[in-house]
Amino acid sequence: MISQQTVQRINDAARIDEVVGGFVNLKKAGSHFKGLCPFHNEKTPSFVVSPAKGIYKCFGCGAAGNSSKFLMEHEHISYPEALRWLANKYNIEIEEDERKEEEFKQEQLKLDSIHIANGFAQRFFTEYLFDSEEGRSHGLTYFKERGFRDDTIKKFQLGFSPGDKKLFVGEALKQGYQKEVLIQAALAKESGTDLISFFRGRVMFPIHNLMGKVIAFGARILVNDPNAPKYVNTAESDVYQKSKILYGAFFAKNAISKTDECFLVEGYTDVISLHQGGIENVVASSGTSLTTDQVKLIRRFTNNITILYDGDAAGQKAALRGIEIILHEGMNVKLVLFPEDQDPDSFMRANGSKVFSDYIKNNSKDFFRFKLESLMKDSGNDPGKRSEIIHQMVESIALIEDPIKRHAYIKDCSEKLGVREEIISTETNKLRRKKYSKENSVSTQDNKILDEQFVVPDSAYQPELLSEFTDDFQERDIVRLLLEFNNLEIEENQTVAQFILSDLETIAIENPVYRKIMDEFRKFLENGEHPVQNYFLNHPDEEISKLSIELLYSQYEVSKNWEKIHDIAITEKSFLFKKDIFSSINRFKLRKVMRYLEINFEKVKNATTEEEQLLYMTIHHELLRKKIELAENAGNTVVVK
Ligand code: ZN
Repeated sequence: MISQQTVQRINDAARIDEVVGGFVNLKKAGSHFKGLCPFHNEKTPSFVVSPAKGIYKCFGCGAAGNSSKFLMEHEHISYPEALRWLANKYNIEIEEDERKEEEFKQEQLKLDSIHIANGFAQRFFTEYLFDSEEGRSHGLTYFKERGFRDDTIKKFQLGFSPGDKKLFVGEALKQGYQKEVLIQAALAKESGTDLISFFRGRVMFPIHNLMGKVIAFGARILVNDPNAPKYVNTAESDVYQKSKILYGAFFAKNAISKTDECFLVEGYTDVISLHQGGIENVVASSGTSLTTDQVKLIRRFTNNITILYDGDAAGQKAALRGIEIILHEGMNVKLVLFPEDQDPDSFMRANGSKVFSDYIKNNSKDFFRFKLESLMKDSGNDPGKRSEIIHQMVESIALIEDPIKRHAYIKDCSEKLGVREEIISTETNKLRRKKYSKENSVSTQDNKILDEQFVVPDSAYQPELLSEFTDDFQERDIVRLLLEFNNLEIEENQTVAQFILSDLETIAIENPVYRKIMDEFRKFLENGEHPVQNYFLNHPDEEISKLSIELLYSQYEVSKNWEKIHDIAITEKSFLFKKDIFSSINRFKLRKVMRYLEINFEKVKNATTEEEQLLYMTIHHELLRKKIELAENAGNTVVVK
């Protein structure tokens, strides 16, 4: 175990804004930092980092904790791993309480050695590129033909692996790298009794993780050999999972944050070419089709993805493959199509960065408009094909989680196609319902896996962080919605008041004034009525009338002005209030679940018998499942003061 003194020193040294800032784009807001929460989907920042308190908290999903908690949740690592990560970052020597842990140490040692071996290999390949006859005449010539400058080659740490199958391995062994480590890092392999290099006679593209460590290589052959694949990659390992990495992300992350946009290209050379031309906010999925993890990685830095793809049909297909995932993650997608026979790399080389930037600016198209236009073009003026177009558009629109955005596209489609909005809307909802029921059966399985893996390290759980935030804000918001939207219809034959009160029937309201208001509401509903607007404003109970005035008066002022300024249509307004209600209820429930988790966790800790412990752990898992479900739906309209 890591000693308590060490833990203390780590906690003292860790700066929460630096730790979180390594993964999330934070903007200064007074004495705090704000950013998009990495633990739930949102478009408006509700994730706050307080350097003074050393904690982060999300007002959307309730996630909260200190630096090590953040790393555990975000990187899915254990508590000791998080501590080691921090100790390493802040140069703190770890003192151990010599107990168990031996296994963990071995594992850590193994990962470290793989990283170190990869670093050595990268330096070896780069030196070989510049300093050997073979490297210069083959590798360097190839890079120069592609127009790469020396500084670019050095920045991306490109290299060349010798054709001789013993050269690299021999040098590595001579330098003291162990055979097992070289094999684990997939830098060498056994051939009979021999140990030979895995990469031979290829130009080398090191692949970095977000922290800039080399974790793998992509290697391209230069000669025409029908028996050898053009590209070879490091095999997947504990340090390298292809589906979680984007080529160039380490070099691009700052530029992506700054420009609030990420260009997605196909290959290594596209990334490098664009960088050399001064366009640095670019990453490549390098050969694999885009994965959810990769899209999430981009979303830490921006919500806007522009896919740049080759002018040929294969390029278009590749680009369209990833779109479903991007839309599902709630991001904005644009497309840029390059002229036939050109890719981003060749276009940049032929035209330079000025023309390139202009081309992107003038040719990027919103995905939906792009799809709609190309479908309409294909169908000519044939009205019979219209339903087919609607069907195809609805398939994409249904993937958008944000109801406001979805509505905007439905409206757009309806105008362009001359079809009533309701028709497209109904089709979209049908598809979403189907999708929802399908997803739910999948998620039960996911939760089961999660449950089995879930272990709470005692010291990492800090209930005092949660107690700091009471439920008052969320409860108050529910009362506000009741008073403001009262008898408006939220669903067919159901008013807002009916909806809220039945949905929250089983959850206790803590604040006595709020509880009184809700109880009175319930009585009205039981008699088939709704209270008139003035009822609570003039309530004989002074606490109730005071609160109602506070909640309603400021609210009405704001919404009336807002309406005037924006002149919004009825449909959109109703969309907004529904969204408001759904996300408030969701936040309220999430907050409650967090509280129950906190209370229950105390019981887990204080349980005296095994049966008791088992019972509370079961409840814990149940609550955790609920929390995840709610966090996934958590509202996107939270305003942080
Ligand atoms: Zn959150």
